Amino acid sequence: MKSELQDMSPEEFRQYGHQLIDWVAEFFSHIDDIPVLPEVAPGGIRRQLPEAPPGRGEPMDAILRDIDRVLMPGMTHWNHPKFYAYFSITGSLPGILGELLAAAFNVNGMLWKTCPSATELEQVVLDWLRQMLGLPETFWGIVYDTASVSSMHAIAAAREQLRDLQFREKGMAGRGEVPRLRMYASDQAHSSIDKAAIALGIGIEGIRKIPSDDQFRMIPDALAEAIAEDRAADWLPFCVVATVGTTSTTSIDPVPAIADICEREKLWLHVDAAYGGSAAVVPEMRHVLDGCDRADSIVVNPHKWLFVPIDFSAFYTRKPDVLRQAFSLVPEYLRTSEDSEVENFMDYGIQLGRRFRALKMWFVLRYFGQEGIAARIRKHIQLAQALARRIDEHPDFERMAPVPFSTVCFRAHPSGMKDDELNALNERLLEAINADREIFLSHTKLRDRFVLRFAIGNIRTEAYHIDRAWGIIQKKLKESGL
Ligand SMILES: *Cc1c(COP(=O)(O)O)cnc(C)c1O
Repeated sequence: MKSELQDMSPEEFRQYGHQLIDWVAEFFSHIDDIPVLPEVAPGGIRRQLPEAPPGRGEPMDAILRDIDRVLMPGMTHWNHPKFYAYFSITGSLPGILGELLAAAFNVNGMLWKTCPSATELEQVVLDWLRQMLGLPETFWGIVYDTASVSSMHAIAAAREQLRDLQFREKGMAGRGEVPRLRMYASDQAHSSIDKAAIALGIGIEGIRKIPSDDQFRMIPDALAEAIAEDRAADWLPFCVVATVGTTSTTSIDPVPAIADICEREKLWLHVDAAYGGSAAVVPEMRHVLDGCDRADSIVVNPHKWLFVPIDFSAFYTRKPDVLRQAFSLVPEYLRTSEDSEVENFMDYGIQLGRRFRALKMWFVLRYFGQEGIAARIRKHIQLAQALARRIDEHPDFERMAPVPFSTVCFRAHPSGMKDDELNALNERLLEAINADREIFLSHTKLRDRFVLRFAIGNIRTEAYHIDRAWGIIQKKLKESGL
């Protein structure tokens, strides 16, 4: 006989599961009419929730009711066709179903033995993705949660490659015989690279920012000079991070020229293609990963532009043995008889426990297929190109960077206005655009200029959404009194 102390019954799960799936389906069928931005002041959501946890269990009806009543007013809807801020992303419906199943299985894939399907499906989807991106077979892959964590592991492996210095055993501090390490990234690189340097004991001073050209791409000659200068001053260069699709403008560093330098100088080359890498799935965009076959490691985030629900970051390296050397530490209770024949993913990073992330990716890749995914990414790129043309043709707007992917950087620039006035104008314009909560754009600063960013990447975004958004942007500029 079962005691009272059971889980929700399968019958009740079925009932509320159907109800919740209906809620989600309804949400997506009306999403065009739902504001993308919330309308709450700080603390506005928290105030509606009890300070203490419920003593007794509550009915599911009450919990589900609070989705609409309490949470929806405070939702920023990332899974929305009118979300154009930061990088626009998609948790596609097949991906959501994959998440549901992963939650149901609730496996911990730390070892092959703790769930063979989790380990082997991860190997398969990463190999499929590798083929889709046109990366060589010598690339070995693993899934981490985010690009920040992927890049941190890359830099840890780069450091481990300096085997003679025994960082793994002796650490980095208090050792007079050890030179200071230096790594390199462009002045447009993502802040996660700096965070990795902080976390790994490289320090902020241990990362040298290489200037970028007028199209925001790292200047290889400046990189070579910096390395020579550092060597002369007794720094120990060990790693270069190139970016394919930088966070501000989506510029592409010249990876082949950077790879030449890294080969000559024997430095680990890591490519941060968190956003831009996905575009290589489109045959005519393959070139964005030119030279990446020569990298030591690369990160691409399927949770950014491959329709996989957050979080899923794909990390590849040609030197898994070095990564393993950096992190493998197997306590007795985790030893298995298959250790010599199988991959135990816990050996390749900080975390022990691992979610079954491969499942959602598998659903997405199978449901849409390689061609279906490529066609959707191609559409985003075409929408962005069309928007860029309209900005170029408009006398009161100007484009601020090339558009290699699906993100457009631009600003209002009515004739006769100076740079300092333009910054204030564009800040006000962005606020006015977002104030109505219908569309959501974000900004960046490029060489001290305040620039609006329009990122297209949600699977539901259509040409009519962009028409509407462009209409709103022009109207808001007019209303700002010009
Ligand atoms: C988004 C992005 C990151 C950070 O990604 P997370 O997965 O959120 O850590 C890093 N680098 C680039 C180029 C990005 O676009």
